[in-house]
Amino acid sequence: MIEALERIVGKENVITDREKIENYLVDETPSIIRPKPAVKLVLVKPANTKEVSEILKFANENKIPVYPRGGGTGLAGGAIPTRDGIILSLERMDKIEIDKDNLMAIAEAGVTLEKLIKAAEEADLFFPLHPGDESAHVGGLVATNAGGARAVKYGVMRNYVRGLEVVLPTGEILNLGGKLQKNNVGYDLMNLIIGSEGTLAVITKVILRLYPKFPATATLVIPFNNRHEALSSVPKILQSGIMPLAIEYVEKELMEKTAKILGETWPVKEGQCYLLIIVAEQSRDQMLNESLRIAEICKANGALEPLFAEPRDQQEKILRIRSNIYLALKPYTADILDTTVPPASIGKFIDAVDEIAKKYNTYLPAYGHAGDGNLHIHIMQEEGKGIDYIEKIRSEIYEAAVKLGGVITGEHGIGKVRLSSLKRYTDEKYLELMRKIKKIFDPNNILNPETKIS
Ligand SMILES: Cc1cc2nc3c(=O)[nH]c(=O)nc-3n(C[C@H](O)[C@H](O)[C@H](O)COP(=O)(O)OP(=O)(O)OC[C@H]3O[C@@H](n4cnc5c(N)ncnc54)[C@H](O)[C@@H]3O)c2cc1C
Repeated sequence: MIEALERIVGKENVITDREKIENYLVDETPSIIRPKPAVKLVLVKPANTKEVSEILKFANENKIPVYPRGGGTGLAGGAIPTRDGIILSLERMDKIEIDKDNLMAIAEAGVTLEKLIKAAEEADLFFPLHPGDESAHVGGLVATNAGGARAVKYGVMRNYVRGLEVVLPTGEILNLGGKLQKNNVGYDLMNLIIGSEGTLAVITKVILRLYPKFPATATLVIPFNNRHEALSSVPKILQSGIMPLAIEYVEKELMEKTAKILGETWPVKEGQCYLLIIVAEQSRDQMLNESLRIAEICKANGALEPLFAEPRDQQEKILRIRSNIYLALKPYTADILDTTVPPASIGKFIDAVDEIAKKYNTYLPAYGHAGDGNLHIHIMQEEGKGIDYIEKIRSEIYEAAVKLGGVITGEHGIGKVRLSSLKRYTDEKYLELMRKIKKIFDPNNILNPETKIS
């Protein structure tokens, strides 16, 4: 196998030394629930789509599992190679060009989120979405249909993708969509690939919608004394007709802890928790007017005096602290959930989570994308408590979300760690159709087996 792969990508891009591939055996999933990697693994780094195609053709003919890998920032174990086989890293495929006329970026799969944001910025355009970790790759972001902060106004990754180049497990190359705003040709295979977590095809190139920059933006930090008042303000803001770029929920203790780790200071003293709201508009008057209305709505719902950040560095500092909460909690975290409920039910959902915390006499930190009804609840490690304990709390949180019309994952995906939960909360017919689709694309089950569906 090694010689065949070396012939395709060159000797220096085929790596078997375990020490050199260690970073490719894990992702950001908390270690307690993270799947164990297989033993006999080879890391392959193709330079272009043709090489990806040849690797897949070879693997398919020889029935060798292939694990597509982006930045390894996933939180559901999706990129972890659990059977002996090939780790396919797209990191060398990192070219990007901007089509200013069509407001689009054409990015190879290995372009990082950081590079995409910068390239758009340099062309005086804007990629609004911000799914947390900027070392994630465009291919990974599409494969997981990432969400994150700043999805309230323009939606999640799916809403940005206009075209894909993918390689099927057989090695065939397929182009889907294009630089188009409308496209009704055939079944929508492009949207089937988006969010398929590396189980149907390897994404090699992506066409993404960009937006003109907003001339006027501000970040409001609105303090509250309790979770319920903060989260029940969110539907009221959305019902008023205001559509901010982001509505995030965070807690004081987490922000202070994270700021300290980053060597910064969290600037707000009042309150126990906050809504962070990014308002982005075409004029300063419009932005100020909306900010005032948001503050009024929140004050009528129990909010204290908001902090209004307009200078860019102040806004970036707030987002930086928010984006790094996971880093602060990770060493003590047993599991990080991304349950999502209808936005108007988020107040009821957090009340249910508080009840569960009381029942188990534990702390369940919560933060996240309140405007999308999508919260990250952390189940913390506790001395002497094993996997059963984690599963019990997780199930109760899932039950609470599903009862409110929600789902067990809104952005991190099923990966390898949520397969049993998927089966529990998904209709049997749905699962059967998923299995059939997987079989059509990947009859030999070589692409990321035991992920998304099994
Ligand atoms: C601090 C932190 C904050 C985060 N915040 C958010 C957030 O706000 N919102 C959110 O949605 N996620 C968030 N995440 C999770 C993670 O960043 C996203 O899931 C991201 O999309 C993963 O991209 P990646 O390139 O790292 O993919 P990887 O982790 O490498 O892979 C993820 C999945 O995609 C598949 N894959 C990767 N590349 C390809 C490809 N080219 N073709 C086919 N399949 C591929 C893999 O096989 C795997 O199943 C966060 C993670 C961290 C660590």
